[in-house]
Amino acid sequence: MPSLETLVPGVHRLELASYTLPPFETSNSFLIEDAGVGVLVDAGFYDASSLNFIKATLESFKVSFLKAVLLTHTHNDHCEGLDLLQSAYPEIALYVHGNEYHQVEHFKCLNILADDRKLMVGNKIIQAIFTPGHSPGHLSYYLPEEGVVLAGDLVAGKGSTWIGKPEGNIKDYLKSIDKLRKLKIKVLAPGHGEAIHNPYNKLNEMRSHRLARLEQVRKALTEKPLSLGQLRQLVYPEVPETLTIMADSSLLALLENLMADFQVMHLGSDEAGPYALHSKTKTN
Ligand SMILES: [Zn+2]
Repeated sequence: MPSLETLVPGVHRLELASYTLPPFETSNSFLIEDAGVGVLVDAGFYDASSLNFIKATLESFKVSFLKAVLLTHTHNDHCEGLDLLQSAYPEIALYVHGNEYHQVEHFKCLNILADDRKLMVGNKIIQAIFTPGHSPGHLSYYLPEEGVVLAGDLVAGKGSTWIGKPEGNIKDYLKSIDKLRKLKIKVLAPGHGEAIHNPYNKLNEMRSHRLARLEQVRKALTEKPLSLGQLRQLVYPEVPETLTIMADSSLLALLENLMADFQVMHLGSDEAGPYALHSKTKTN
């Protein structure tokens, strides 16, 4: 069943069934409304009952004009409902970062958003903040007056967010987390799961988790060079067979970062490795 949570007056989280990664089975869309005008952030739903829930929510907040959908990024579990939405609201504008424009270019009324661009909904200001890392054109949406950040997949309501090659980049991700840490935030709302009311703790936690994973990979290579498969068994022993591709792509993102810092080197001829500690760091 879809559900609704009001984060602050005029900003609502709609939890809608989606095809997403475990542990989640829903994605959040957000309605930002003021003075009868509304915008949605993300459209990660697949069925008509979610669309009906959105319509009923608009009615209950007396929103007569739904003017746009702002995308955090273009992964399917954040934009699968765009078709349904544009058939129900043919004039609705769509906003996306330029780095992911091509993923959604078949949609009508498409606009590009850049870092720091501000949009108005009634009297509310929404600021787009470029936060790549999970995907190359990831945007978070900041309401400075309300102290709300809609952070898409930069943070997760529980567990950690997925950062995998080829789209993910850990250096970008850590920079994006730092960018959010500098904002005045009261409520941090992730793309999946419940709103977070201790935003700085959560951001620090997301950051430390990623740094710990980097260290875990580096440590795993102290004894001897390992292939990607061997690393997976050490770093992600709990990952089921069906998700090994995801685990491998996140390992490749971690390895990319360690290689960029000259901590790890690639000995093989393809991504299967093996990988070894860089000679300079071996004695550490
Ligand atoms: Zn995503």
